[in-house]
Amino acid sequence: MLVVMKHNASAEAIEAVVDAIQDMGYGARPIPGGQRTAVGLIGNDGRVDKARLEGMEGVLECIAVTQPYKQVSREWREEDTLIRLDNGTVIGGSDVVLMAGPCAVESEDQIMTSARLLRAAGATVLRGGAFKPRTSPYSFQGLGEEGLRLLALAREATGLAIVTEAVDPAGVDLVAEYADIIQIGARNMQNYPLLRRAGQSGKPVLLKRGMSATITEFLLAAEYLLAEGNGDVILCERGVRSFDTHTRNLLDLTAIPVVKGLSHLPIVADPSHGTGLRSKVVPMGRAAIAAGADGLIVEVHPDPTRALSDGAQSLYPAQFEEMVGQINVIAHAIGRDLVAPLDAVPAQG
Ligand code: PEP
Ligand code: MN
Repeated sequence: MLVVMKHNASAEAIEAVVDAIQDMGYGARPIPGGQRTAVGLIGNDGRVDKARLEGMEGVLECIAVTQPYKQVSREWREEDTLIRLDNGTVIGGSDVVLMAGPCAVESEDQIMTSARLLRAAGATVLRGGAFKPRTSPYSFQGLGEEGLRLLALAREATGLAIVTEAVDPAGVDLVAEYADIIQIGARNMQNYPLLRRAGQSGKPVLLKRGMSATITEFLLAAEYLLAEGNGDVILCERGVRSFDTHTRNLLDLTAIPVVKGLSHLPIVADPSHGTGLRSKVVPMGRAAIAAGADGLIVEVHPDPTRALSDGAQSLYPAQFEEMVGQINVIAHAIGRDLVAPLDAVPAQG
């Protein structure tokens, strides 16, 4: 439930509402906004005494949140959530963000070469798995902590922010030490202990849609993160299973405007896992931006033919560069901009 405060409600009145909600045995989350301040009531079982709150000073009305996910919903918060990274990248605003890198960190040379190329092409976030949740136990599982160290080295050298995956609850703290954004992979979207731990990490989380997850299940998974007090959640559409075998997955572009309507959280698209085919990544990346995605996360490898994982869907650096140019045109056509490259010098006067 949301307790909406009057425009001119004092800080004391808001505080009194928070106290009253806690006194009733529920959690209270003040939600300041440009238009209105509200206090969210969490953990209710549907039997809240509305009258007690409605009678309080400064309260305009109490609104039931109808969606099963609460804090994730647009009913809860009208304004888009913006996530600010230390290198200045803002996710969820009017700028389209470019996250790119190899599927997995393989060596110092591979990740440093990737980082330099990608920064020059306009990416501001570097992806790369150190812990890889592979379908087969015999496939390359990642370099582990050494991979995290190499990512930190690449950040130091280039200023790119780092997004990398945590695969189990016990590994979250280690990943959080190195990463700017913790990725939760599709296979783990409903790993609730992992979600809870990531929700407590204090780091932004990029949550990938499970391969058979409905949009409601996807948003409820995000709710686990917000329920732990972590509002910095980036959703990622990465394709769902379909009956067709021409592509690895079916990139569900409809999910982008649907999620935008239902939630205030940013959503990016992953056309790499969404298609599984290098030749389809660029067209679907363009389409995702046209559909309103807040950014892309794309696999790019300096030498995809030698990649230890997902080489067939990894772009050559030149393809990424070309895509960035095209996305720039699309972003402008819909009133957006591409994120400013890290080496851009602010225009004078
Ligand atoms: C990845 O990002 O490399 C990955 C494993 O993605 P997903 O969880 O979407 O399959
Ligand atoms: Mn991959």
